[in-house]
Amino acid sequence: MRTIIEPFKIKSVEPIRFTTKKEREIILKDAGYNPFLIHSDDVLIDLLTDSGTSAMSAAQWAGIMQGDESYAGSRSFYRFEEAIRKITGMKFIIPTHQGRAAEKILFSIVGGKGKYFPNNTHFDTTRANIEFSGAEADDFLNEIGKHPEIRADFKGNMDIQKLEKFIQEKGKENIPLCMITITNNSGGGQPVSMQNIRETKEVCTKYGIPLFIDACRFAENAYFIKTREAGYEHKSPLEIAKEIFSYADGVTMSAKKDALVNIGGFLAMQDERLATQCRNLLIVTEGFPTYGGLAGRDLEAVAQGLEEVLDENYLHYRIRSVAYLGDKLVAAGVPIIEPPGGHAIYLDAKRFLPEIPPHQFPGQAIVCALYIEGGIRSVEIGSVMFGKNDENGNMISPPMELVRLAIPRRVYTQSHIDYVSEVVIETFKQREKMRGFKFTYEAPMLRHFTARFEHI
Ligand SMILES: *Cc1c(COP(=O)(O)O)cnc(C)c1O
Repeated sequence: MRTIIEPFKIKSVEPIRFTTKKEREIILKDAGYNPFLIHSDDVLIDLLTDSGTSAMSAAQWAGIMQGDESYAGSRSFYRFEEAIRKITGMKFIIPTHQGRAAEKILFSIVGGKGKYFPNNTHFDTTRANIEFSGAEADDFLNEIGKHPEIRADFKGNMDIQKLEKFIQEKGKENIPLCMITITNNSGGGQPVSMQNIRETKEVCTKYGIPLFIDACRFAENAYFIKTREAGYEHKSPLEIAKEIFSYADGVTMSAKKDALVNIGGFLAMQDERLATQCRNLLIVTEGFPTYGGLAGRDLEAVAQGLEEVLDENYLHYRIRSVAYLGDKLVAAGVPIIEPPGGHAIYLDAKRFLPEIPPHQFPGQAIVCALYIEGGIRSVEIGSVMFGKNDENGNMISPPMELVRLAIPRRVYTQSHIDYVSEVVIETFKQREKMRGFKFTYEAPMLRHFTARFEHI
């Protein structure tokens, strides 16, 4: 087997600023031990997120120059609409400035007190938008997905039985829609199988509940189906994506992921009445329905990106380059969620730092150590992000304590990734020295973005 090479060559480069370990110690302390508050110039390898961090292609930049900036009826909108319709088959396509804007519009309309929204695992902004509307967001991840050490093909799957029981308990009239997130970002970037999407749809249909897909990483999910699910090995990623969306009544998407752009998103659906309500709200909060909070040029870049992301050579390289990092870490004994997900490697902080309990934020301790050791920025996905306080102020922790190393699309080369693996392995060897954290500031919602900490 030959080396799998990046399926592109580099036309334009951006320098990285190097810092010393001493400098990084001061920078991190000043940022309250929260890497969200660090200047990006002080980061060597930025694995904070794969969102909006893609390198665009020459064809996308060319699209930027050709964007039609007409307020209404922009040519770029029609290209955007056509690109999304070709993949999703949705009748009504509404551009938004990013994924959460689509969520905000959708849940402002269908949410509210007494309503419930099941999902395999809600992403943080999805959960926040549902809860902000007064409704409840519920996760039904299948059992195997909760065990980071077990290797399985589709660890993002919905627990169908639990979902059905939940619908019976809460009453179908209180569940305006069901969601399924592909790939399952918060659950480790793990894919959902076509069979599971089909079965989720069957349950939804039985109770008359529409199914919406959170499609941020639909192309990566399609590629996993192609390589792991029987019957799909000879289908193209586009054919697989089309089948996925054939089970959906609606879609929310952050184009900052699998549309390979730096900003953008959309909301799409089959139901005309709901689309009209969404468009009316869009006009108040985002903009006219043919640009929805974006410039015409952004719509062009999304349309082009959606074509490029379904290229099989790209997807092969993408999924393999993430697994490459995972393989190196596993070989060195570093505990990660196995098998590697589509867009990120998730370190399992509970096994990495068994001595630090969840309420002392073991994930945050690893995040800080990776920054100081090698200038790598990562993010905690555990008690900092999803912990809740009960009436007595005691923290209720989520099931997993993770650190996400998200890989931006088409940005870093194999030597960058080799460096990352060296730093993670070095940090793991020095894990005895690491200490936990406590909050000095926490916001009431999405606290991980702005929280400040000090060492215990
Ligand atoms: C990123 C993301 C969102 C939100 O999209 P933004 O563009 O960041 O607002 C929603 N769901 C999932 C699964 C995501 O990964």
